[in-house]
Amino acid sequence: MANDSNKFQAIISHCKEYGFIFPSSEIYDGLSAVYDYGQYGSELKKNIREDWWKWMTQLHDNIVGIDAAIFMHPTTWKASGHVDNFSDPMIDNKDSKKRYRVDHLIEAHAETLPREEADALLARMDQLLAAEDFGGLKQLIEDNKMKCSVSGTCNWTEVRQFNLMFATEFGAVSGEADDNMVYLRPETAQGIFVNFLNVQKTGRMKIPFGIAQVGKAFRNEIVARQFIFRMREFEQMEMQFFVRPGTQKEWYEFWKEERMKWHLGLGIPQERYRFHDHVKLAHYADAACDIEYDFPIGFKEVEGIHSRTDFDLRNHQEYSKKKMQYFDSEINQNYIPYVIETSIGLDRTVMMVLSEAYEEQDLSTPEKKDSRVVLKFPPKLAPIKLAILPLVKKDGLPEIARELMDQCRRSFRCFYEEKDTIGKRYRRMDAIGTPFCVTIDHQTKEDGTVTIRYRDTMVQERIAMEQVKQLVENSLA
Ligand code: ATP
Repeated sequence: MANDSNKFQAIISHCKEYGFIFPSSEIYDGLSAVYDYGQYGSELKKNIREDWWKWMTQLHDNIVGIDAAIFMHPTTWKASGHVDNFSDPMIDNKDSKKRYRVDHLIEAHAETLPREEADALLARMDQLLAAEDFGGLKQLIEDNKMKCSVSGTCNWTEVRQFNLMFATEFGAVSGEADDNMVYLRPETAQGIFVNFLNVQKTGRMKIPFGIAQVGKAFRNEIVARQFIFRMREFEQMEMQFFVRPGTQKEWYEFWKEERMKWHLGLGIPQERYRFHDHVKLAHYADAACDIEYDFPIGFKEVEGIHSRTDFDLRNHQEYSKKKMQYFDSEINQNYIPYVIETSIGLDRTVMMVLSEAYEEQDLSTPEKKDSRVVLKFPPKLAPIKLAILPLVKKDGLPEIARELMDQCRRSFRCFYEEKDTIGKRYRRMDAIGTPFCVTIDHQTKEDGTVTIRYRDTMVQERIAMEQVKQLVENSLA
């Protein structure tokens, strides 16, 4: 059985073995911090994406969604501050040449210390980061004798900034001029800001209103480890909420609460989450916090909630020379709206949902050793909702099973299987998190009942076959 420290590794192996997540281009030994979602992982990810989208757009009157391109005009990233500021302090070990993000190096060291010492170290780090005191950070690393995990030495370079954006060339001619250079977007938010006027005008949106978007983002992360927690290509689900200046504090509090409601709606209990207020505010923010989840590797950020002031729209106005103003008829004033952003990583959410769902259970009895791995996904997120299993491959049972498939498959994802013993088939469904299995047996032919087996309790009961669809649908509501 996995304990907490190796649970993480167990989840990674499980994801690969059961078709959730594979290293990218694995036949060529993979690409660092890039992953592919397999047949079940892509369903899980899609279900989370759809749940977020529905919750943010369909369930809020004043939020609409868009789908902006990954490529954007290069000036976007000057206006947003990413060209100048989207960098992390790094330090290299001179012996191993391995590069570390300074905060990660210090955090990893803190994990080896007793609680109080660790807290003091992290508080000092936060102060130095906030002051951008690179000399002080290096001193902190040296004073604490932090070692490189590869060389084992404390032989460090100075602390330097490193930009995280990927650049590529645009158009037919390569390598000629700088204006050919475009970036792969490091966040989806800017696609929303540059479309602020388009959406506001064509949608006749009245402040306060929001624009949501889901899409890929790219960051050349230096310390890209920890599976899908930190990737170089990942997906974000972001929403920018435009408000009247001066009201941002109350909307910031509103969105903190509102987003937590969504998280709890994933069936994850409150005590597995916490808010973490930022000490060092990003260049655009006047308040910011993270929602952290208690991963097997400790509490880590899943979502950021930021009060971004009018920084982005004001800068786009300045760089594009297009007015980014809104006329507020209630107060008879023109202004550049302030923005509250909610920004969550889809891949990190997948990892959170997997971590919460993964359970190794010892089912041994005095007579027999037995165990199972079960993924206890909430039914609405499960890749497969219902497995339909004829007990044997003959006597007309597969035909009845196919009939049930036909009744259900338009409404939710079903899975049909007739190979192996029922016990083995149940275990496979547990391992991919299928909440309901239905077995068709000889009695079904006589009285139209089937055995339904519940994943979490393993309880089995007989119900009328015609009730199955409704029962599954009720669980998805
Ligand atoms: P971190 O401090 O972990 O690097 P961040 O504060 O830079 O994250 P934001 O820029 O606020 O992250 O991005 C919003 C969300 O996007 C994060 O909360 C996270 O869920 C997700 N995210 C950011 N970077 C990555 C990444 N490299 N891989 C996967 N998800 C990411």
